[in-house]
Amino acid sequence: MKKYADFRSDTVTKPTPEMRKAMAEAVVGDDVLGDDPTVKKLESLAAALMGKQAALFVPSGTMGNSIAIKAWTRELDEVIIEARSHIYNMESTHMTFISRVSPRVLTSHRGAMDPEEVEKNIKKPSVHLPRTSLICIENTHNNWGGAVVPLENMRAIRKKADRHGIRIHLDGARIFNASVASGIPVKEYAETADSVMFCLSKGLSAPIGSILAGPKDFIDFSRRIRKALGGAMRQVGVIAAPGIVALEKMVSRLKEDHERAKKLALGIYRLPGIKLDPEDVETDIIIFGVEHPHLSAADLLEKLKQKGILALSVPQGIRFVTNRGIDDSDVERAITAFTAILHS
Ligand SMILES: *Cc1c(COP(=O)(O)O)cnc(C)c1O
Repeated sequence: MKKYADFRSDTVTKPTPEMRKAMAEAVVGDDVLGDDPTVKKLESLAAALMGKQAALFVPSGTMGNSIAIKAWTRELDEVIIEARSHIYNMESTHMTFISRVSPRVLTSHRGAMDPEEVEKNIKKPSVHLPRTSLICIENTHNNWGGAVVPLENMRAIRKKADRHGIRIHLDGARIFNASVASGIPVKEYAETADSVMFCLSKGLSAPIGSILAGPKDFIDFSRRIRKALGGAMRQVGVIAAPGIVALEKMVSRLKEDHERAKKLALGIYRLPGIKLDPEDVETDIIIFGVEHPHLSAADLLEKLKQKGILALSVPQGIRFVTNRGIDDSDVERAITAFTAILHS
């Protein structure tokens, strides 16, 4: 048995043998000079999947989101964003640091902001007020436990944005998880947004990289911002090649991650101290509170670790994420560990 079943994130996976082979054999060139055929292939494949004119390979999802916000806004602008979103909470405040815009933070129902509330918060600039130039939506929603934001909600927000001439950026780090869970093609989600970022390095198991997709002029400008941020790289094909494998081969298996997350949730939600509704587990992420007379979330994490189960603490309690490195026996092992700890 392996030492640890690692549920900390869907980013802990290693490249598949096919990805390693693709890396070794990748045809490369200097991408800053536009010479790398492999990254060009990845970018056109990604653009086609998202139904966008163009796409840009970026080193991380955070850089993709940073570039999008920078490209769609000017200093003094305001950006409407959801309270628990990754961009607002987990990306070291690049919104203020790089783009010098302020967030207008709205609450939501499991990541879905109320379109009426969004509209009420759209501002026309005055001597007192900023201009609202962008709305950011996250799907699936990480801190809402991998919730799938309904397509109808995104379409309703799109209508509001259009009425006021405002852009929408989709933080679709896990948009393929949303698509696999709902059966709705990624293109349909992406259609509701002007730009979309997604990660190759999460459930799709590529070692590095994310994609930013959108209209051609936006991507041309984004390429200049990427350079300014130090994200333009040379023989990028070496890391773009596993990204192509990720898109061509790794999407459909996400449903296994979702099934295992559900199985784990169903196996633990009745245990004393676990605050979890298994209905809320829609994709690969399980977030639950710990309300136990003798154990804090930190105690529980430590005891799980002693039994070979790794997970992370989050503000709401504990987060488990299934991933390609987790199999059915790891899920059984986790349920057994929880049961032993919480029934003792
Ligand atoms: C992971 C993540 C990102 C950022 O990706 P990095 O590659 O870690 O910078 C952005 N948004 C969401 C929702 C994420 O989960």
